[in-house]
Amino acid sequence: MSDTDVRNVIIIGSGPSGYTAAVYAARASLQPLVFEGSVTAGGALMNTTEVENFPGFRDGIMGPALMDEMRAQAERFGAEMIADDVIEVELAGDIKTVKTATDTYRARSVVLAMGSGYRKLELPREDELSGRGVSWCATCDGFFFRDQHIAVVGGGDSAIEEATFLTRFGSKVSLIVRRDELRASKIMQDRAFADPKLEIIWNSKVAEINGADRLESLTLEDTVTGATTNLPATGLFIAIGHDPRSELLPGQVDLDDNGYVLVQHPSTATNLPGVFAAGDLVDHHYRQAITAAGTGCAAALDAERYLADLD
Ligand code: FAD
Repeated sequence: MSDTDVRNVIIIGSGPSGYTAAVYAARASLQPLVFEGSVTAGGALMNTTEVENFPGFRDGIMGPALMDEMRAQAERFGAEMIADDVIEVELAGDIKTVKTATDTYRARSVVLAMGSGYRKLELPREDELSGRGVSWCATCDGFFFRDQHIAVVGGGDSAIEEATFLTRFGSKVSLIVRRDELRASKIMQDRAFADPKLEIIWNSKVAEINGADRLESLTLEDTVTGATTNLPATGLFIAIGHDPRSELLPGQVDLDDNGYVLVQHPSTATNLPGVFAAGDLVDHHYRQAITAAGTGCAAALDAERYLADLD
């Protein structure tokens, strides 16, 4: 294991928040070091097709192309990228330590930008048809499903919120619920029952996701009888929750009950001096590329000011 010089700022994560933090930190001549992860450099948008709501691209842009642009922009100003996973951090004290499987890095400040992961159904075809009919975000993708039959999986508040939002676009929305009742709050349930475009399919789960290049239908299985039926939905929104990628952080920075990093809003400061957090690792409310980029910018500015106060 080798020791390297103490950096100004290390950024962990390579989604819109991490790369935006890198652009700002690099343009402030802080020569940031970015850990991109070994598998999914570029973050959640690498798993999607067209992004139509990131400002500046009037005709939309493919998710991976948008992330390539952000990465190249950060590199242009001198950000250094390492395509590896951080496996351990020590964030207390003036000098922070960040470890990969092979090396140890040190910095005076750290930006945490590890994002969050949507829970999956863990079915064959789910990943291949992501961005091709299968989605985890109604705000992002609902618009693509105008006049189509949309299915939503989940029984909690966020599933009902997604389903009722999607009735604006779909010809019909089918909410697939495993049990014979909803976990959602009473007010959300009342909203669902009153919506004429929303049908609830009780005691059901998705057994198969069907389609060659795009989603063509779902095979549903009755959770009581085991009987299967075909649902000709061309959109599937999976709303069974999401988990912050904060596995490195317990015992280091303060987290909320669900594992999201707590920051001192409106800043991105955590409870530890010199440690800032941005993007979906903090935000379980908006979860958009532009909001992640916005807080990534704020985190870099907060780190820059923190370092300036030290000098
Ligand atoms: P992420 O994009 O999740 O990036 C975090 C990165 O950190 C990942 O690359 C991960 O590998 C890395 N990382 C995690 N842990 C470590 C570690 N220990 N070491 C090194 N690296 C690590 N939003 C929109 O605004 N418009 C859309 O159209 C849209 N479409 C979407 C489609 C899909 C399929 C999905 C899943 C999301 C979509 N979103 C969309 C939401 C958007 O992608 C997220 O809000 C945004 O990417 C969050 O950015 P982030 O930087 O916080 O985290």
